[in-house]
Amino acid sequence: MGTFLFHDIVFGPVTSRRLGLSLGLNLLPDDGKICTYDCVYCECGFNTQRKSTKGRFPDIEDLYTDLEYKLADLKAQGIVPDVITFAGNGEPTVHPKFAECVPEVKKIGQKYFPAIKIAVLSNGTTCHKPNVFEALKMADMNILKLDSAIETTILQINQPGPGFNLEMMLYYYKQFAGKLIIQTLFCKGKQGNVSFDNTTEGEIIAWLEALSYIQPAAVMIYSISRDTPLDTIEQIDKEKLFEIGARVEKLGIPTEIS
Ligand code: SF4
Repeated sequence: MGTFLFHDIVFGPVTSRRLGLSLGLNLLPDDGKICTYDCVYCECGFNTQRKSTKGRFPDIEDLYTDLEYKLADLKAQGIVPDVITFAGNGEPTVHPKFAECVPEVKKIGQKYFPAIKIAVLSNGTTCHKPNVFEALKMADMNILKLDSAIETTILQINQPGPGFNLEMMLYYYKQFAGKLIIQTLFCKGKQGNVSFDNTTEGEIIAWLEALSYIQPAAVMIYSISRDTPLDTIEQIDKEKLFEIGARVEKLGIPTEIS
């Protein structure tokens, strides 16, 4: 298992498969992971393996200071990032000050690079919170996870905490009125005696129906590209991803495969 944690509040920039040159923000503890999901493919590892001993979210004043410092440094070097991305060791929206952070980060970013975009990579489980919903709407790229439209599959692949309700999540996704991008990781594997595969025909039909209902601005499809905490996971080949992508495009939704 070669999963890893981010140890800084501001990291990168890194060239992202999906976002371009991305400066990352980690709103989670620097010594562990906090997430409302516990995905079998999570590059940070399983929640129990990566429990933070400090359990402390970074102070947002430190985030603003570190961000200013990093942006000034990049500008001095002539490096122009495309996007500032909320990501890191878990689910960024669980930071108690996430909602107030988004507009401030945008303001700081645009002071140095007027064209810079703000992206949030979220699993979408906190969309029902009004302040989180409003903050996500402010992001230029509000990228929300939907690995399956069948709840039992989400329970296997994403392993949400108690109280997860797929129907409610899809309802809130729809309320973004198209101002969201759906990200889906396709994979198959086995945990204990339970097999999972979100690429079966039944899965794809249900997922396409959910996309028709949500009407996102775009869909991002990908498969495993890094080490995973569960070593039985299989990568889905590009041909299959393109086949799935073509079916999304038929719905009139632009699709990116990486
Ligand atoms: S939602 Fe993201 S951070 Fe959370 S467990 Fe899944 S992959 Fe990891």
